[in-house]
Amino acid sequence: MSIAENLRAVKQGIPDGVTVVAISKTKADDAILQAFNTGHLDFGENKVQEMTGKWERLPKTIRWHMVGHVQRNKVKYMAPFVSLVHGVDSFRLLKEIDKQGRKYKRIIPCLLQIHIAEEDTKFGFDPEEAMSVIKSPEFRALTNIDIKGLMGMATFTEDRALIRKEFKGLKVLFDRIAEVQEGISILSMGMSNDYGIAIEEGANMVRIGSRIFGPRN
Ligand SMILES: *Cc1c(COP(=O)(O)O)cnc(C)c1O
Repeated sequence: MSIAENLRAVKQGIPDGVTVVAISKTKADDAILQAFNTGHLDFGENKVQEMTGKWERLPKTIRWHMVGHVQRNKVKYMAPFVSLVHGVDSFRLLKEIDKQGRKYKRIIPCLLQIHIAEEDTKFGFDPEEAMSVIKSPEFRALTNIDIKGLMGMATFTEDRALIRKEFKGLKVLFDRIAEVQEGISILSMGMSNDYGIAIEEGANMVRIGSRIFGPRN
């Protein structure tokens, strides 16, 4: 199947109100255009420089999502255009995004990445840590970021029950944070192999790469 057909098939199987972010990391401009030409606008990358190059070359109506770990010294490159930063995993990074947002006169939409997987290799806040950041005066003082919700990645495993449990836990935290913080509306969880479970557990944004673009090298 073509990229356009894959994308249509994925979207047909997904309820209204769930946004598909097509994860185009490592893929060529031409592959992105094939998806874009179906009318799709949300694309995600995990490296700032790769995303910036694609933003420069491709149609400006594309909404670029940064889904990877971001080094603070790279924030300045994406600050002028990034549509949503999914991988905010420290307060220091949030402060840098705020600073660059101010420089470019933007309020930059962000998600806090939460560590939900069993592996300790993945980035993210622990749930209680995220809650205390949200409640802190230092966070409240930031004027050029807008926390829209949470992002998480489940353990890389065949154990569907474990994946479900991790997504359930993230949804519980999402609801708690939505009670204390205004404007919390996005729950980004689910990738090619687990987005069905993620949606059942409350995801309203899924990040799908290989299912649309084929395997990466
Ligand atoms: C690569 C990546 C995805 C997409 O992975 P697939 O398994 O190809 O769908 C989703 N989220 C993040 C953070 C990624 O880095």
